[in-house]
Amino acid sequence: VKLSFTRIHSRGTGAGGTIVVLQDVTEQEKLELSRREFVANVSHELRTPLTTIKSYLEALEDGAIEEPQLAHKFVGVTRNETERMIRLVNDLLQLSRLDSKQVTISKEPTDVAEMLDEVVDRFSVQMLQRQIDIRVEVDHALGVMMLDRDRIDQVLDNLVSNAVKYTGEGGSISLRAAVQDAKWVEVTVQDNGIGIPKKDLNRIFDRFYRVDKARSRSMGGTGLGLSIAREIVKAHGGTIMLESELNQGTKVVFTLPYQMEENAAV
Ligand code: ADP
Repeated sequence: VKLSFTRIHSRGTGAGGTIVVLQDVTEQEKLELSRREFVANVSHELRTPLTTIKSYLEALEDGAIEEPQLAHKFVGVTRNETERMIRLVNDLLQLSRLDSKQVTISKEPTDVAEMLDEVVDRFSVQMLQRQIDIRVEVDHALGVMMLDRDRIDQVLDNLVSNAVKYTGEGGSISLRAAVQDAKWVEVTVQDNGIGIPKKDLNRIFDRFYRVDKARSRSMGGTGLGLSIAREIVKAHGGTIMLESELNQGTKVVFTLPYQMEENAAV
């Protein structure tokens, strides 16, 4: 807390005194610090792929371009890095829209079971390659509900993609949706993968926070997936939480207000 004093004199009238201003600078400082940290992170995340691209282009220029096999490999690397940068910039743009409340949530009647089946379809090739087994369980009571399909798809894609990335070959993932107290729909994405150490759990939703930066990068991650998921769920009026045990697995649960089609006229 900052204190500042200003003496005021008022000649002639005899009035005067002191104004004391109490200002909470700690919150302000914290905000400024996290803003600076964010800018530093963004710069670093962009500089890394750019440096890689530059060095591969230089190698091509220095002669690798004459060797078709090598040239092919180097072009592949620069393309991968470019794609990662595009993903990063898209994620950042989306976060900034969510932050400035420019995102309107447009809910539409959605068949939850069908939505979950389609997420599984999108990851089926990846899961087959790594022999990961996935199970989907949907509450019978849960039919069609109102939600922003594109955005909830994105939440599911981020969570399932993490479950796949951080689960070893032969692991299993489960996707569940259930109604709670007729008011909430609870969606769970659970895996039996590498898990997260206890000390990292409270920062896991922070932007760019990763348990293992190198591992996340090599998997193509941007470190923004969970932050985006949280913002989208919040914009729906829901909550999200993560539980994890190192070497046992991870469970992410998010809730959405259960608004059925019949009473969703508002
Ligand atoms: P990333 O792009 O790195 O996956 P996220 O924001 O989606 O970024 O996740 C942040 C970090 O949380 C990851 O880097 C990883 O360390 C950890 N994490 C997320 N989901 C899981 C999971 N299912 N199992 C193990 N670790 C996870």
